[in-house]
Amino acid sequence: MRRKLIAGNWKMNGLLAEGTALAEALVNLQASNSVNCDLLIAPPATLISPLATLLSGSGIALGGQDCHCEPKGAHTGDISAAMLADLGCRFVIVGHSERRNDHAESNTVIRQKARAAQAAGMTPVICVGESLEEREAGQAEACVADQIRGSLPDDGEAVLAYEPVWAIGTGRSATPEDVARMHEAIRKVTGEVRGADYAARCRILYGGSVKPANAGELLQLLDVDGALVGGASLVAEDFWAIAQAC
Ligand code: PEP
Repeated sequence: MRRKLIAGNWKMNGLLAEGTALAEALVNLQASNSVNCDLLIAPPATLISPLATLLSGSGIALGGQDCHCEPKGAHTGDISAAMLADLGCRFVIVGHSERRNDHAESNTVIRQKARAAQAAGMTPVICVGESLEEREAGQAEACVADQIRGSLPDDGEAVLAYEPVWAIGTGRSATPEDVARMHEAIRKVTGEVRGADYAARCRILYGGSVKPANAGELLQLLDVDGALVGGASLVAEDFWAIAQAC
């Protein structure tokens, strides 16, 4: 049985006061309401240390938004997986489409980052998803299958997140039918790459304009094991309402 995971990707949002207030609001919600899922927030790197203290003992896990594939060295501005783990991160997002696009990250690099996360004792959340052009050309499933084959490590645990690029931050979520079809295809490819046992236990999240209004219908789909939430994770009540839809 796969326990659902609701993950908040804060992206490049939140100065110290805002970020700590948001985390405090989540801790308060957690203390007074129970949810039937695991919770993760991935704040900007500058907030990881203060949030590690705030979230300690809350049951809300902390994650990074990216890591370098090397353990240390001359990589100005980058953060190693071990540095994130050292601060208490248990997960790290790799291969988000904003990283693939803004930083030209290839599947090979993303796989190396995922392996670095695993080597540091964390679980990578590997993002895949087609562009609008790829969807309109009928290439969505082939594109996502290529991304999985290229970026999923050969062993170790990983979470997959299907995030169609055209649905991220646009307010336009994929339809439940599209999501159901793609998640089934992702589990099939995962089985081809890693075997049936792994595919059966691998959590596959959906991301792309998830909000309280559409979370229920997306999260009840058979192969949807949670959500990766961007914009709505910046409003404590909305993030909580999504978690309560599990
Ligand atoms: C994301 O960036 O991972 C994301 C899914 O963003 P949003 O929920 O805002 O579409």
